[in-house]
Amino acid sequence: MTDAAGPARPSRPLRVAVVGAGPAGVYAAEALADQDDVPVAVDLVDRLPTPFGLVRHGIAPDHHKMRALADTLRRTLDHDRVRFVGNAELGSDLTVADLRAHTDAVVYTHGASGDRRLGIDGEDLPGSIAATDLVAWYTGHPDADRGLVESALARARDVVVVGVGNVALDVARVLARSPGELADTDMPQHVLDVLAAAPVERITVLGRRGPAQATFTTQELRELGHLEAAVALVDTAGLDDQSAVRAVARNLATLREWADHAPEPGRVSVLLRFFARPVRLEGTDHVTGVVVERTAVDAADRLTGTREIDTVPADLVVRSIGYQGRSLPGLPVDDRTGVVANEAGRVLRDGVLSPGEYVAGWIKRGPTGVVGTNKHDARETVAALLEDAAAGRLGPGGPEDDLVDTLLARGAHPVLLDHWRAIDDAETTLGATRGRARTTIHDRTALLGHAHPTPAR
Ligand code: NAP
Repeated sequence: MTDAAGPARPSRPLRVAVVGAGPAGVYAAEALADQDDVPVAVDLVDRLPTPFGLVRHGIAPDHHKMRALADTLRRTLDHDRVRFVGNAELGSDLTVADLRAHTDAVVYTHGASGDRRLGIDGEDLPGSIAATDLVAWYTGHPDADRGLVESALARARDVVVVGVGNVALDVARVLARSPGELADTDMPQHVLDVLAAAPVERITVLGRRGPAQATFTTQELRELGHLEAAVALVDTAGLDDQSAVRAVARNLATLREWADHAPEPGRVSVLLRFFARPVRLEGTDHVTGVVVERTAVDAADRLTGTREIDTVPADLVVRSIGYQGRSLPGLPVDDRTGVVANEAGRVLRDGVLSPGEYVAGWIKRGPTGVVGTNKHDARETVAALLEDAAAGRLGPGGPEDDLVDTLLARGAHPVLLDHWRAIDDAETTLGATRGRARTTIHDRTALLGHAHPTPAR
């Protein structure tokens, strides 16, 4: 195809910037690089010095098989049509206008990194945090708020996790695991030390609707029943629901196996309690409890309150009630939906298609699905992009100067593939010092020190 990028363009590859090197971004880069119709040059841009997004900073560190997905994703970084450009942040190092000027098309895949709020009194008390805070911390995200999380964990005897999705189960499981069970993970050493010292005795996971409405998956639920130093308990309300949906029936069957479990001395209790909606967090200078209202669910799975109130003791409250897409400077999300308005991946601005702008992943469809869901999602977006390129519908295209040259001229310090490989080597070397495959380096300065050992960073 000779004029795939539009008739006015010289015969050079179609230049595409993908913003966000998480699974959706890598899958979009892969879909672009692996097709033979149009020569492409893809810049895979990320604000972090490291690639892989939620595979590195979301998937729980004890889920080794799922984290090994990084080994598959890294093959795309090695592709000669793809260039990783890390440590380049939209809004400070680059603008949307820069990207538009340097490329023929931009695919935004920056995910949904914000946390949702409960909107109840006491939510901002010390000791009340978002799952996103905890997950960022235990996966060694450079922006994690160590003080917030570590001070909360230091006194966390009674933990309440609000929400019954897979993130809530990740959080409960990581907090309930013994130090020995976490020893072979890639968590930073300070994370392992703080978790080992945390006084956790009881974890209550609260679902505002019934067990039949929970969004966790059976495999993740079953894991809670097989922890070395914890016992899984369940409040039996709703377990006799005769659901015809297979996934729900499997969840209920797993929960029923726990119905006669009782707390065991010396083991962490992990209690799943349903039909309980938080109405207020108690405490003066620190959270001490979650006031919950018992709920009921009608035939259409809708929630109603019963006005029956009780208080669950809590020194740490983790709200795990979903993620929220955030606007990038120059790319607003729809306040109502939390995603960038789009049609099958084509960005809409003020309801009108914006030529050359696309979205994939959570910022396109919302924070749902497993990592693999992003593959199909990214392919749909790339198909739209290539169709637009073939039809000459992209914008006028950019000048010939290079994105990385522009970043360097601005005094930025982009992390390219070889720099990332140096970080990768440093993490495996650090891991080996303690008999592990890898230890995540969490400090941005240290990461950049490995990426750019000389001259000054
Ligand atoms: P999620 O599955 O949407 O779960 C959110 C939970 O929060 C639901 O139980 C929801 O209850 C509850 N909730 C929402 N607002 C609430 C409120 N105001 N008060 C009380 N509860 C509230 O989201 P997630 O757990 O953050 O997971 C995000 C995505 O990542 C999911 O697709 C998940 O499967 C995926 N993920 C997968 C894995 C894995 O495969 N191992 C691990 C982690 C994440 P309602 O249903 O009543 O709204």
